[in-house]
Amino acid sequence: MLSYLHAFHAGNFADIQKHAALTLALSMMHSKPSGIACFDTHAGSAVYDLGSERARKTGEADTGVQKLWQLREHLLSSDWQPVLELLARLNAGDGHLTTYPGSPFWFRQFLRADDALTTFELHPSESEQLAGWAGQKVRVLREDGLKGLLGQLPPKQPRLLVLIDPSYEIKADYGSVAKTLQKAWQKCRHGVYLIWYPVLTSGLEEQLADALRSGPVRKILRSEIHLNHPPERGMTGSGMLVVNPPWGFDERLGAMMDDVSGADGLDVRHELGWLVPE
Ligand code: SAM
Repeated sequence: MLSYLHAFHAGNFADIQKHAALTLALSMMHSKPSGIACFDTHAGSAVYDLGSERARKTGEADTGVQKLWQLREHLLSSDWQPVLELLARLNAGDGHLTTYPGSPFWFRQFLRADDALTTFELHPSESEQLAGWAGQKVRVLREDGLKGLLGQLPPKQPRLLVLIDPSYEIKADYGSVAKTLQKAWQKCRHGVYLIWYPVLTSGLEEQLADALRSGPVRKILRSEIHLNHPPERGMTGSGMLVVNPPWGFDERLGAMMDDVSGADGLDVRHELGWLVPE
């Protein structure tokens, strides 16, 4: 079942949290010169038109990246800077934001000569668009991202950064993500793993947290944002798990999310803590 299309949701409040955590991890890992193997297990199509029929149907970017963009002058000297730089580069012109970059684009912005990026995307048209965008620096595989990741570990680069961002169309995805993380961690314990999940009125996402609490993986940071005015049903927030975050990552991500949480911004409250300590 591949009915999910990220074009309906690109640039929403969840993307802002996810891409903040991703860019912060990349920036912090770049303080050391050794190469990083990057994997994006559910990549999407890399570039989204915020004026498209799909994006306008939901209008989700209006309460996400458009709010961030309005705050940009207050955020210039913060960890939001690389985020604002890429948005400005993609939206040069009259100051209106019409294009939003997906996760492969955020990864690619940081790639150095010794780093590598492998992306997985199963949806035929998303995968085709991704391949058209990718160029030579980015490997695009039309394979299952969870199985594909395990097949690529351990990588030849000394360091590892993985983003796992499924659409959770299937309830079993929560368990599959937990199992995949545990297997990947057995192969590469020093890797930094970022996992996105929705916060739902059903509470289904707790399956993922419960599986990880009782498993072997240590040092898992959990960041959640909760909408101040949530819908009665469905997604009321967005969560990120970060395994092996660089030292100081928690404080810096906390500051980033505080910067944009108010009523003028994403209108959310942020919670941060260790799901599993060291
Ligand atoms: N990571 C993207 C970003 O941040 O811009 C968004 C990804 S979207 C939430 C999830 C993507 O996973 C969709 O494009 C979907 O087609 C793709 N997908 C679904 N099942 C997959 C699988 N088993 N393996 C790889 N990709 C899959």
